[in-house]
Amino acid sequence: MMPGQHLVVVGASLAGLRAVHTARQTGYTGPITLIGAEDHLPYDRPPLSKAFLAPTPPQPGWLVEHEQLHEQLGVDVRLGCRAVGLDIDAQEVLLDDESATGSSRLGYTGLVLATGASARSLTPAPQLEGVAALRTLEDAHALRRALDTGSRVVIVGGGFIGSEVAAAARHRGLPVTLVEASTAPLAHAVGEQVGQQLVTLHEQHGTRLRCGVQVTGLTGTGRVTGVALSDGTHLPADVVVLGIGARPATDWLTDTGLTLDDGIVCQDTLAPVGTRGIYAAGDVARWPNPLFQTAMRVEHWTNATEQAATAARNALHPERQHTHSSVPYVWSDWYGSRLQCVGITDATTEPLLLHRPDTGRFAALYRRGGHLVGAAALDQPRFIVKQRRAIAAAPPGTKPEPRPKSCCTAPPDHPRAGSDTAKRGAHEPPPARHGPPPRQHALAALHPHRHSRRARGPAAHRFDPLRSHPPARHPLTRNCPQETRMADHTRIADYPHQLAGHCGSGALRDLLHWAGLSYDDTPLDEGTVFGLGGELGFTYLRHTTMQPPIYLVGRGPDLTDALAHRLGLSLTRQATDDPEQGWAWVRDELDHGYPVLCWADIAELPYLRVRLSMSRHDIVLIGYDDHTRTATVIDNDRAEPQQVGYEALARARASTGFPVPTRHTTYRLRYPTHLPALAPTAADACQAAAAALRQPESSLLGNSVDSVPDLVQATGLDGIATFATDLARWPDLFPPDQLDTALHALAAFIDKAGTGGSLFRRLQADYLTWLAETTRLPAAQQPPTPTPTSPTSGANSPPTPPPTPTRPTASPQPPPPPSSCPPSNTAAPTNSPTSPTQ
Ligand SMILES: Cc1cc2nc3c(=O)[nH]c(=O)nc-3n(C[C@H](O)[C@H](O)[C@H](O)COP(=O)(O)OP(=O)(O)OC[C@H]3O[C@@H](n4cnc5c(N)ncnc54)[C@H](O)[C@@H]3O)c2cc1C
Repeated sequence: MMPGQHLVVVGASLAGLRAVHTARQTGYTGPITLIGAEDHLPYDRPPLSKAFLAPTPPQPGWLVEHEQLHEQLGVDVRLGCRAVGLDIDAQEVLLDDESATGSSRLGYTGLVLATGASARSLTPAPQLEGVAALRTLEDAHALRRALDTGSRVVIVGGGFIGSEVAAAARHRGLPVTLVEASTAPLAHAVGEQVGQQLVTLHEQHGTRLRCGVQVTGLTGTGRVTGVALSDGTHLPADVVVLGIGARPATDWLTDTGLTLDDGIVCQDTLAPVGTRGIYAAGDVARWPNPLFQTAMRVEHWTNATEQAATAARNALHPERQHTHSSVPYVWSDWYGSRLQCVGITDATTEPLLLHRPDTGRFAALYRRGGHLVGAAALDQPRFIVKQRRAIAAAPPGTKPEPRPKSCCTAPPDHPRAGSDTAKRGAHEPPPARHGPPPRQHALAALHPHRHSRRARGPAAHRFDPLRSHPPARHPLTRNCPQETRMADHTRIADYPHQLAGHCGSGALRDLLHWAGLSYDDTPLDEGTVFGLGGELGFTYLRHTTMQPPIYLVGRGPDLTDALAHRLGLSLTRQATDDPEQGWAWVRDELDHGYPVLCWADIAELPYLRVRLSMSRHDIVLIGYDDHTRTATVIDNDRAEPQQVGYEALARARASTGFPVPTRHTTYRLRYPTHLPALAPTAADACQAAAAALRQPESSLLGNSVDSVPDLVQATGLDGIATFATDLARWPDLFPPDQLDTALHALAAFIDKAGTGGSLFRRLQADYLTWLAETTRLPAAQQPPTPTPTSPTSGANSPPTPPPTPTRPTASPQPPPPPSSCPPSNTAAPTNSPTSPTQ
């Protein structure tokens, strides 16, 4: 960090929050101010047009909790505060919060503009009750109330949001008419052929379509009564939903010197043209995507997260500017099916379409000049992941294309063929690529040989988009209205899995394998995945109220987040105390073909037969069956998938045990097309691990435990020394029976389960050896050091009399230790605590 730095982020939503996370994850420790016009903490918008419209809605999907934002991320958050101007010369943002802060100007050294977009309305905007647009949480509440009372629903606009709302209203059994000016829903975005598939999808679920007509006005006095159409017809309506697109939120930037043209016009580094220290991200940014050599503005979730990461990095490191390349991606959920598009899928490119009339599933490939530029599919996530990767690996030719009207790019406010932006984009020389290279640039180029030492995963799955693992479609469940078919069982058929030493590293290894992400044609092994997480660490806790009275962890708290961040995965972690909501998240992901990473308490997982509470055990759910009421669980500790009853799983996911309440924690992961270049990624991971050992306060418990009396906590390298000194005092500190327990626990923590040390050091050693071999460093010539026990060998070890980490019973409670994973390969006798593994 440079002295005097101050990162200001305007827009406290998805992109803004991701910029904040990235800044902290990249080691920036200076001040961050996050400005948000809404009164809420950042929340997830996609559910607003889906599950949130159900009669019994879930809780809003908060993207962060207040405490995390303030205390862990150290962010000065100003909610309900609007930026109203920007003084580029003075490097100040003008705020409308004078009364709150005593100042309406906020200085910055780095600025991220993430103000997103707002919903369009008709002109003039109708002032009638029963008319709703959908962008914010308030909009969603209002629309839900309208659906609660209204009966006849007319939706204006058959885009993503209009179609999703149609599906949600049909799910309630309401009569729905969807009016679309084009020939088919999304025809401008995915072409006529795919649009016709979507017509069928709507019609199969009872939505009436009126395509090729315009809305000329709304009728009603005080309250809406109907919609007048250009063909002279009138549609009676109690609720009218306006799904006619969004407008980038740039009004506040008028006359600031920024170039505005359907968004903030940026360079390929996401810096607005002609500025320094300012970057834009998310729905508000228009930038020349080097991969397609086309200026685009993308209004989709994944883009917001990806761009925000680049914007934050560039804002903090002016000396190391990265261009931002990406293959746009969007998903959209209709009637229990998932439509996904990648790349450019516009109407000007006639796709190659494969479809199965019996299931309604389809897959479409869009080509230009011999290059694959886009793909769209219904209910085929792996097909889409594969196409996204293929497009990134072989981007279109060098000739700039005109601005696309793609499903993945927002249409401009006014159609402007040959607009200034388009012309500028067309005449700029192709920008140099500094961003992540396509897959063939990565490690594969560095090493001619494969590593014999590494475990090989199953052979690559040959994916047939129309034949492989179709999501199960079964007769109606009791709770669904006639039109909405929901699956009552599903299972990801080809999920790769092996035993692992540590639950988190093993789960992430399997997930990356499933997503086809590696540095060569061999799946990454567990050590490599752990090492790339950069989470080697050390924490020692001693407190008399703990049982056993000591605790050791050999890694940092956030392997999943750190790995996802470093490897470019999009990650959303959701937690709730509502079991139905927690299960709905899982089910939703599985229904659309994604394996789901969750936390569970091992004490409640029947196949482990453990009486030890460890509430942050990572498992992956790959299926469910309502007939048998079981879910299919992948666990690092079992070679085969396990069937777990819904009730036991719900208990395991609702644990309040040790070390933290599980709260149905569920991850939604989305995968990039390729991994980032190995050398900088590995260097970053190694530096992170070294930093966590040298400066543990920044990565482990921080100062949140300072107030706990008599707690001994020691972290990092200094912590190891403290632990050694403290160990010598144990005979004086503990009575004989507690000393016995502590010593047994120590052996288990360090050696048998290894999570207090040896397991993670072995994984890190595996990673470093692999890295050395792969990059052909001299260390690769040395024979690998034999390890006394492999991570999986613990399965055959005699059970060690174990400690029982339980939540401390006395008050005050010591803090939860960093995330730990439960014993791997533990089949402990019942009623006997077993070796803890983290
Ligand atoms: C109902 C709905 C459903 C969606 N579903 C999907 C989906 O299924 N799949 C998908 O890929 N994408 C989906 N999206 C799109 C996705 O949610 C957006 O791309 C994403 O939210 C963009 O994030 P952002 O941070 O750029 O902008 P936003 O989420 O719009 O956030 C911008 C924030 O900036 C604030 N702001 C604006 N102006 C100012 C100012 N002057 N000062 C301070 N703050 C300001 C706004 O109040 C807002 O909170 C959906 C969007 C909506 C609305």
